[in-house]
Amino acid sequence: MPSLIDLHSHSTISDGLLTPAELVAHAASKGVRVLALTDHDDTAGLAEAESTAVQHGIQLVYGVEISVTWRKRTLHIVGLKIDPEYAPLINGLAAIRAGRHTRAEGMAAGLEEIGIEGSLEGAYQYAKQGIISRTHFARFLVEKGFASDMRAVFKKYLVKGKPGYFEHQWADLEDVLGWIINSGGVAVLAHPGRYDLGRTNMLLLLEEFRNLGGAAIEVVTGSHTVDQYQEFAKLSRQFSLQASMGSDYHGPAHAYIEMGRLPDLPAGCVPVWQDWPEAEFLQAGLH
Ligand code: AMP
Ligand code: MN
Ligand code: MN
Ligand code: MN
Repeated sequence: MPSLIDLHSHSTISDGLLTPAELVAHAASKGVRVLALTDHDDTAGLAEAESTAVQHGIQLVYGVEISVTWRKRTLHIVGLKIDPEYAPLINGLAAIRAGRHTRAEGMAAGLEEIGIEGSLEGAYQYAKQGIISRTHFARFLVEKGFASDMRAVFKKYLVKGKPGYFEHQWADLEDVLGWIINSGGVAVLAHPGRYDLGRTNMLLLLEEFRNLGGAAIEVVTGSHTVDQYQEFAKLSRQFSLQASMGSDYHGPAHAYIEMGRLPDLPAGCVPVWQDWPEAEFLQAGLH
């Protein structure tokens, strides 16, 4: 029995490998019935995804994964059921994308200092449709033989303290929650287990996130270990936050979980989709 709902995925509009149409077709082939496309800082794939979803009988949830700086750390906030026509959201995302370009220039300059030439153009070759990200630099560096795979290339060049890392100020948490919530959407803290926060800061973050109107945290995600499913299930209950689940799929041969293979939310979690008409058949148990 496949997992029927997947609320976190990427297409070629950000750093995924499949076009929005290919991604939706892939999800359908794996048995997914409710899918959110959540490209980084860009909603440009939603229209194409929607028309393919209709053909495949998939319920598409309009989503986006927004980059935030909170207390000098990068966080990702997933917006679900957003209105991609909402002007403050459009303008906010456009500003983040412009910042991504400046950051990419900084990354390329850092790589040039250690003798790696042409990485800006090289990365953009992989980012034809939408945003520029570290993933595109990673693909370029692997292609040129600077590292053997994605995991190794991030570790060697693209994380804090490495030559291709460039300190960047993303959007403000409060602003981002405002764009999402005022567009009619719900805000979800993406893969909380991936942030190296420590217990005290994690509790602070969850409290602040909830006080700013955040609705849910990802409990089951391709970025969490099985132990983290339980850990964040518990924290979601403790903070009265709903629970979300998504593969964070980026395409075949990428380091995340396959679609349709997610385990159920741990007992006691309130699913973020509990009142959604598009997921009603899940509540009714009509699998
Ligand atoms: P950016 O938003 O430009 O900083 O890029 C972040 C993206 O890089 C994430 O969404 C992941 O898709 C990818 N990423 C981050 N760390 C790793 C890693 N260790 N291995 C593979 N992909 C990674
Ligand atoms: Mn990504
Ligand atoms: Mn993320
Ligand atoms: Mn993601």
